[in-house]
Amino acid sequence: MSSLQQSVHIVFIPLLAQGHMIPLVDMARIFASRGAVATIYTTPVNARRFRTTVDRSGELGMPIRLVEIPFPCEEVGLPVGYENLDILPSPELLTKFYDALGKLQEPIEKHLRQQSPAPSCIISDKYIFWSSETAQRFGVPRFVFHAMCCFSVLGGHNMKHFNFWDSITSDMEPFEVPGMPKGFKITKAQLPLNSVRRQDFDVFRWKIQEAEMAAQGVVINSFDEVEHGCVEAYQKAIGKRVWCVGPVSLCNKDESDLFQRGNKASSDAGKCMAWLDSMKPRSVIYACLGSLCRLVPSQLMELGRGLGASQQPFVWVIKREEGDSELENWLMEERFEERVKGRGMVIRGWAPQVAVLSHRAIGGFLTHCGWNSTLEGVCSALPMITWPLFSEQFVNEALVVDILKIGVRVGVKVPVRWGEERKVGVLVKEHDIVRAINALTSEDKEGEERRKRAAELGEKAREAMQEGGTSHSNVSRVLRYVMEGPTQEVV
Ligand code: UDP
Repeated sequence: MSSLQQSVHIVFIPLLAQGHMIPLVDMARIFASRGAVATIYTTPVNARRFRTTVDRSGELGMPIRLVEIPFPCEEVGLPVGYENLDILPSPELLTKFYDALGKLQEPIEKHLRQQSPAPSCIISDKYIFWSSETAQRFGVPRFVFHAMCCFSVLGGHNMKHFNFWDSITSDMEPFEVPGMPKGFKITKAQLPLNSVRRQDFDVFRWKIQEAEMAAQGVVINSFDEVEHGCVEAYQKAIGKRVWCVGPVSLCNKDESDLFQRGNKASSDAGKCMAWLDSMKPRSVIYACLGSLCRLVPSQLMELGRGLGASQQPFVWVIKREEGDSELENWLMEERFEERVKGRGMVIRGWAPQVAVLSHRAIGGFLTHCGWNSTLEGVCSALPMITWPLFSEQFVNEALVVDILKIGVRVGVKVPVRWGEERKVGVLVKEHDIVRAINALTSEDKEGEERRKRAAELGEKAREAMQEGGTSHSNVSRVLRYVMEGPTQEVV
């Protein structure tokens, strides 16, 4: 590690949502392991989830720290403690949440002014648009962190750039997204913009865009080989550097890091890991729909029925709020856990997802196609059952099923918008889940080839993070940019 590198101080400002914080904290640890001083700003409730992991990295000698800034809930009329998107009970509170987030700018800048070494660069979530101003004030570059892959960011960019949106008249007719290195089809109803139809967010979106345009580059939790030409295409489209520095989850090698990643693991997790030890290699399906899933109990019951009816062993993660009385009563009345004993496990609350996925007994992943989960599935060389819910998850599904050819669709056609879950009701039936599990685990040629492709991709993901690998080299490039400034124009 050069002394120059030691004086590089990278400031990380994540959005307060698990799918954004978890990868950015991992990224901070990766940069700290390469000698840069890393400061992560967050709020007290979120700090409690990440403190142990960051402190452990510090104890190992990495120059990293987590700084807590109080979240001004009361000031904006938000109940105290509502500090993460997974805690907000309704989308009606979103405006207040983002107001409170904006009020972090001043205390963060005040804290930064007292730091030595002074900041040399800011890597912040795209939603933290005001950090663009902070970077200008401190005279340092800002790199935008997209908690998505280039494939979906480029898709979104192209839809806007080619003014394609208005030309699509049907909501349900698949069309080809323009300007993609590898074509794929999607419906208008499944596009991210359709997930949040709130006009009060127009100004907010505009500010994000403006800040993105002012940024010096983009960092992505992904690796070149999974993107099928989209990194170069996106870089060209925006005229800025785009660095893939992942899969960042692979930086978690230590068992405690794996077990505590993102939150304290549920008390069911230990039992689950012990049970997995007793299972045949690659025999268990892991089902988890992410940190923000708010499906109605009747839909979750259908998922439970599907898992129960398939002959395949499984782990089913039920978010704590999902464990509400309606679902819990159903589980009890059905004697669900008794009936599946020895073949199925339920984790209520926070699952140590990467630890479970990397267990040799896991053979498939039923996922909502959040980008982090998707990439974690890729790292564990797993074929996937795709059940997208909202946001860019349908685009990720297209990547997994149509381009990478490592997935099987559960068959959902429309998103479940936050706040409209009851209106949508049950979209996926027991038989859809059984069909998808059977297809995924089938020993026919298609099943075998899918598993082979997943294994090869998992290998490439690991290579990307090793010395000489594409993502490892990109971390060096980011550091060089911070130390020396841009040395080459983007073509
Ligand atoms: N996660 C986890 N345990 C859980 C639920 C989620 O560790 O019980 C992690 C998962 O590994 C991933 C992140 O939370 O890193 C979720 O991000 P993703 O982009 O997959 O989806 P989101 O939750 O944002 O919809």
